[in-house]
Amino acid sequence: MDKIIQHLKHSDHILIASHTNPDGDAIGSSLAIGLALEGLGKKVTFYAESPIPAVYRFLPEIDRMTDKIEANNPFDTAIILDCGDISRVGDAVSMIQQIPTIINIDHHITNTKFGNYSLIETSACATAEIVYRLIKKMKAPIDKTIAMSLYTGIMTDTGSFRFSNTNRDSFAICEEMVAIGVNPYRIAQQVYGTYSLGRIKLLNRAIDSIEISENGKLSVMTITKEMFDETNTKPDDIDGLINYAKRIEDVKVAALIFEQWKNNRKDGARKTYHVSLRSEETVDVGAIATFFGGGGHTNAAGFSIESTLAGIKATLLDLANKL
Ligand code: 5GP
Ligand code: MN
Repeated sequence: MDKIIQHLKHSDHILIASHTNPDGDAIGSSLAIGLALEGLGKKVTFYAESPIPAVYRFLPEIDRMTDKIEANNPFDTAIILDCGDISRVGDAVSMIQQIPTIINIDHHITNTKFGNYSLIETSACATAEIVYRLIKKMKAPIDKTIAMSLYTGIMTDTGSFRFSNTNRDSFAICEEMVAIGVNPYRIAQQVYGTYSLGRIKLLNRAIDSIEISENGKLSVMTITKEMFDETNTKPDDIDGLINYAKRIEDVKVAALIFEQWKNNRKDGARKTYHVSLRSEETVDVGAIATFFGGGGHTNAAGFSIESTLAGIKATLLDLANKL
């Protein structure tokens, strides 16, 4: 951390980036570190390749996030947050790799330790927790906007202080953010209480799609493009759905498969599937996701795969026999 702070003291224009399909931690930790560095007089550009989900648009400085970056690459430093590997930032990866110094801040156990400096704390409940400590150590002021961003990152990544990554610091930091002026009800209301009707209808279909392995230990939820089309929803409306599949008694691993369409210059639109995995404490789904080219945490992980729905389901059900 000290080396990172030393480096940042001398940097001038910093690019802040996180992963595609950003969640509350990706967004919260990015805004918090960028705004804190601005408070210390640095020039900052916030990059997010995917659109920001509607439920996070209440964050005061969210409009600073853009999918366009200066073409002449004026940055001396990039800070990459909440990304297990650098390709998670999306198509801008090749441009980002040209930036002279890359700082990797993350809490995923599968982190590849890319970049010139890495600050990886796998016991942190959220990347926002690590960012909090970095901001404190830099002696940057925490205003209400930064406090809301950190609070949102921790609240969402701990599933509102329910998941196994919830620790003392989750509460201590959030308590401090509330003292600064964060209103817990208002943030929870924005994140969990402003769903579109389509999202609720998608929930209905997602729950209906649940299949259970013969031994009852694995549940699979499937979301197809038709379900998105029929309910007028997008992949960012999936956030949290997998938890319903995980709540079923005896289920040790829950999987959510959804269709992803990516525009590829060479082949046009190309279909892949994203598989999210959640497990109870005793099963390491991070290792399973890594095996399939993805990554994540011990109890929450994911990967993308080019296959058929039937093929993916067969693979998952085969896995269930080993649980
Ligand atoms: P989710 O299932 O919500 O997409 O992701 C669960 C966790 O796994 C998150 O912490 C996320 O960053 C990580 N994850 C999901 N997909 C991938 C992937 O394709 N590659 C890597 N490295 N991590 C992923
Ligand atoms: Mn995170």
